[in-house]
Amino acid sequence: MAKLENEFTWSVSRAKLFEDCPRAYYYQYYGSWGGWERDTDPATRQLYILKNIKTLPMWAGTIVHETIADALNRYSRNNSPIQAGELQAIARQKLRSGWVESVNGEWLQRPKRTNLHELYYGDGKSLPKEQTERTKERVYGALAAFADAQILHEILTVPYMNWKPVDQLDSFRLQDLKVWCAVDFAFTDPAGGLRIIDWKTGGEHREALRVQLACYALYAAEKWFAAIENVKLQGVFLNENARVSTYEVAPDILVEAQDHILSSAADMRGKLLDVAANTAREDDFPCCEKEHICRYCNYREVCPYIG
Ligand code: SF4
Repeated sequence: MAKLENEFTWSVSRAKLFEDCPRAYYYQYYGSWGGWERDTDPATRQLYILKNIKTLPMWAGTIVHETIADALNRYSRNNSPIQAGELQAIARQKLRSGWVESVNGEWLQRPKRTNLHELYYGDGKSLPKEQTERTKERVYGALAAFADAQILHEILTVPYMNWKPVDQLDSFRLQDLKVWCAVDFAFTDPAGGLRIIDWKTGGEHREALRVQLACYALYAAEKWFAAIENVKLQGVFLNENARVSTYEVAPDILVEAQDHILSSAADMRGKLLDVAANTAREDDFPCCEKEHICRYCNYREVCPYIG
């Protein structure tokens, strides 16, 4: 099979990592590249394993997102009812199997298997009970809020034909740049507006959401030919009783976001050894040396600042 090419792309999370720590960004997008291949060198493999580590809150968020996406897919196929107890039972199973994968070190052979930051950089076997209980409560609480949410009721009352594809990673082009974008859920409401739903298990950061909204709106215009003025983003904060925060798309926000994306991509490209080949050199990416960022960084084990 032909080798995958490391194409230069942009995403909200990539830009955030570049801003937080250029060295971690290098490890994530260049140093770990190819680490999935059998014949890769040990240093690349190690970075690839580290790349796939998740903190407990990230893991909880992934489980909530997967469980919701599966429930909506099942509903679309056979009208399966969406009930909190059932969703929580599915999530319990995911929590159990993920925990076992992490403790047993299955990620050594298969790096995509669950590998928890708190265990990897802890004793590898156990965590304080309060920490694991908090994670479970976060997941179960979010799913209960989802099952009870008014927005779910609205979604289930529109015909399935009005739903857009659920939770798929996709991309759109901004000039010569590929921009990744993962819409959680979207549907056309009875008034003809396109509603893009973002399930949130963390807090609300309005600035970050504005850029995310712009990405969704640009994506919706390219993929679904949506008129920008008809698009609304709704952040649903599942750990705050499914509180909904609505963002309208205004032309000035879009222009601002496009400028932001292009200048962020230019900054990233400015660090490359060879822009056309998308290659980079580790020493050109300084360590941020900020304790509050380093504490949760996946690359602590290899970073010269920590070592
Ligand atoms: S440990 Fe800190 S300085 Fe090192 S890569 Fe991670 S965030 Fe950057």
